[in-house]
Amino acid sequence: MRQLLLLAFVPAAVGAATVAVDVGHFLEEPGATSARGRPEFEFNRDLAAEIESSAQRLGLRTELIGYDGFMSQLTGRTAAAARADFFLAVHHDSVQPYLIKTWEYDSVERRYNDDHAGFSLFVSRKNGQVRKSLACASAIGAALRGAGFVPSLYHADHIPGENKPFADKANGVHYYDNLIVLKTARSPAVLLEAGVIVNREEELRARSPEVQKRMASAVAAGLERCLAKRF
Ligand SMILES: [Zn+2]
Repeated sequence: MRQLLLLAFVPAAVGAATVAVDVGHFLEEPGATSARGRPEFEFNRDLAAEIESSAQRLGLRTELIGYDGFMSQLTGRTAAAARADFFLAVHHDSVQPYLIKTWEYDSVERRYNDDHAGFSLFVSRKNGQVRKSLACASAIGAALRGAGFVPSLYHADHIPGENKPFADKANGVHYYDNLIVLKTARSPAVLLEAGVIVNREEELRARSPEVQKRMASAVAAGLERCLAKRF
């Protein structure tokens, strides 16, 4: 109903670009677990829905993928987005398993690490439109920085499991060539790690509706700016 209402009151401009907003993970395998025990999938679903609303307000068309939690195949996601002009995968971040510490929350032992925080963006050089993917990742990163968010940068660290080279350090963009959804998307594609949910403070920020709205509006604005350009 929410989507129907938005479509009814905010019609997309004729010829507007269509953005596929992909909710990372699914109910059975919900990704990372936050410092207080909430599955990443739920964070992704909240933020993706906000990004969809913000993008529609800017006149973009949208397609929300995996919102029901049953999209278990990664290639099913990019197949569903085959006609979209852009693919944006929405995720929340963790750290390498060997950096995890434990604490007690609500009488349950939980896993956390407070050393890293911030967003990061990934593009694949195996995507058919790497130039536009990178330009849009940079535009999203710049818009996020403009809205007060800070890139995490630790994915470039020379430690096991990381080593993701910078594509645009200032805007928090890395190359991650073998990410399935990025390399199988027919359109330009970017993966957003919106924040580090094993970080106890960042988890609270990521759960705040105000922060979600501010982040979604920056992501949509960056995308809209980039999609309006010719490549
Ligand atoms: Zn994820």
